[in-house]
Amino acid sequence: MMAHKLSKQTGAETLAPNGRIPTHAIVIGSSIAGLAAAQTTANYMDQVTIIDRDESACKQDFRSGVPQARHAHTLMPHGQEILEQLFPGLIAELISNGAVPVNIEKEVAFFHAGSWRSPKQKDRKLSLSCSRPMLENAIYRRVSRLPNVTIMRGYRAEGLVTDASGQQVAGVRLRFGRGARARELVKEANLVIDASGRQSQAPNWLASLRFMPPEEWRINAHVGYATRIYQQPANFAASWKRLYVRPTPPDDTRGAIILPEEDGRWVVTLVGIAGDYPPTNEAGFLAFARSLPTPQIYDAIKDAHPLSDPFGFRRTENRMRRYDKLPRYLEGFLVIGDAVCALNPVYAQGMTAAITGSHVLAAVLNRYRNHLAAGNVAGLAASFQTALREGLDDLWSQSTSKDWHWPMTEVTDNAEALPVFI
Ligand SMILES: Cc1cc2nc3c(=O)[nH]c(=O)nc-3n(C[C@H](O)[C@H](O)[C@H](O)COP(=O)(O)OP(=O)(O)OC[C@H]3O[C@@H](n4cnc5c(N)ncnc54)[C@H](O)[C@@H]3O)c2cc1C
Repeated sequence: MMAHKLSKQTGAETLAPNGRIPTHAIVIGSSIAGLAAAQTTANYMDQVTIIDRDESACKQDFRSGVPQARHAHTLMPHGQEILEQLFPGLIAELISNGAVPVNIEKEVAFFHAGSWRSPKQKDRKLSLSCSRPMLENAIYRRVSRLPNVTIMRGYRAEGLVTDASGQQVAGVRLRFGRGARARELVKEANLVIDASGRQSQAPNWLASLRFMPPEEWRINAHVGYATRIYQQPANFAASWKRLYVRPTPPDDTRGAIILPEEDGRWVVTLVGIAGDYPPTNEAGFLAFARSLPTPQIYDAIKDAHPLSDPFGFRRTENRMRRYDKLPRYLEGFLVIGDAVCALNPVYAQGMTAAITGSHVLAAVLNRYRNHLAAGNVAGLAASFQTALREGLDDLWSQSTSKDWHWPMTEVTDNAEALPVFI
């Protein structure tokens, strides 16, 4: 891959009100991490541009850039709290649009290690249930209304460009369209935030500019999902609104989730760990549900009307890219969300980790506020990645510690030191 260098400082054309050159940030990815990062960054930079390779915005349907969105997504109360701070009024808006409020202590049934337990959440009793597209779309609408944010859809980020010194990011190389009609361009910026998820190419981009890519830790418990949407039966009566059956190591490899969504739907996800993947054909899906250690899931869905086929997903390993330990940073280039820390979805911490990233980002950008206004980003990348690692310690430990107990779990290289960071 070619390394590109630019000598100009910014792509913005008109001067800011006080006569200085306007500052510009690019965020790659318009999903949870990218939208939250853009909302935060818009408070500190004159202009923010969000780039996404998907042509369509999220709307109420699924888009190819976020294939995991078809599967059950629980937003943990801590993530919900940070999201509400970032987007005041979001929870009420979602409820008024059909999201289902769930009382965590009274309306969640949780089966684990052979018995039913009630989740305890001190001071946090309300949790929302809605489809992942509904959540993302509500955030998307808010961010797209910000006067200094532009969203460019259908553009794929393909690399980074640096300034003349080669030490600082100066923009992103983009491709629009496909095949012979594809167009390449460079969008300049003082600050670039990669929020492109598990498929992030940032390590390759850094390597092509002669920066050391991050060390990578992977803990793979070989988890597979199969998910089907159902219409909740009109006469269905149970004390729970959400039902979780969590697999228990080392032998009890099967689990499942039922979450209520808008429009009276259920999202039903079957989970298999240690390579015991749930089938995606109709008969196999029901047989797997029937084989669970408790009959509640099968009983709930056996007569319910399916609204979709079952969809599978297997890219679920815990992966931490140690951007906090780089020997040298490309100044002004930050990485956030699944692009840094992707977690086994069984523990439902991924969106909370992505949102936590923007919380950390706000604190770091605030510290650099005066430097940023002058387009000076020196030291920002190292400070952010270190603070982010600290902010994600607990979530990483929670998501990885149980995975060590599955016999098939693969652990790469020096990840043995987990679950505690060194
Ligand atoms: C099966 C499954 C179930 C899950 N369940 C839960 C759950 O219950 N609770 C929970 O909290 N988390 C869950 N997660 C995790 C959650 O989905 C992720 O943690 C979260 O979506 C991460 O957000 P992100 O913005 O970092 O990345 P993503 O959501 O993956 O978004 C990446 C974005 O970048 C764009 N993009 C990618 N490459 C480029 C490029 N080169 N140029 C431009 N744009 C690009 C994509 O189009 C996309 O919009 C689950 C994950 C899986 C796999």
